[in-house]
Amino acid sequence: MILEQISSGGKLNPLAALSFERMCAAYGKTIPTVSTTRTFAEQEYLYRGYVAHKVGFNFALAPGRSVHEQGFAVDFGESAWKWLTDHGNDFGWIRTNPNEMWHREYKQLKDLHYHILPPIEEKGFLVALNDYKQDQMYDWMKQTTEAIGRLEAMYGAADGRNRVKSADQSRDLIREAHAGVGRIEKMCD
Ligand SMILES: [Zn+2]
Repeated sequence: MILEQISSGGKLNPLAALSFERMCAAYGKTIPTVSTTRTFAEQEYLYRGYVAHKVGFNFALAPGRSVHEQGFAVDFGESAWKWLTDHGNDFGWIRTNPNEMWHREYKQLKDLHYHILPPIEEKGFLVALNDYKQDQMYDWMKQTTEAIGRLEAMYGAADGRNRVKSADQSRDLIREAHAGVGRIEKMCD
């Protein structure tokens, strides 16, 4: 399983990690996390503590059954809960247990800040992500996301003097982004 380090110190699935960092940018600083991706052994430890009613142990699913083991769940620090209540859903971070204010899971299809996905997910992108090609797919995804990010930055920065140059550059970036999406789509066929 491929995981990516995030700025709070934990690790997440690469797409969840990208979303987490986008959310931190909107928050204005790193959002504190208490628990991110867990190994089977870590989940087992938490589960055993929970079923034994040990002090300090919250509800935990049996090992092998938690989204924390798949890299898509985060337990957030309390100082960010209020902000997450207002903005977390828009970034695709959804509360799945009404009793756990801290626990959210990343649902890509609900992420309004994800630029590329809609045409791709229909072609099985999410399914393909789970297969052995996911590392290659992730590289392309990242390139494409970066190209679109540069394009957006350029539109934001464009002024009269730069406009002609920017138009040329933006065409190149659009081509680059389309090539990336094309490669991803091809893999999902
Ligand atoms: Zn959790």
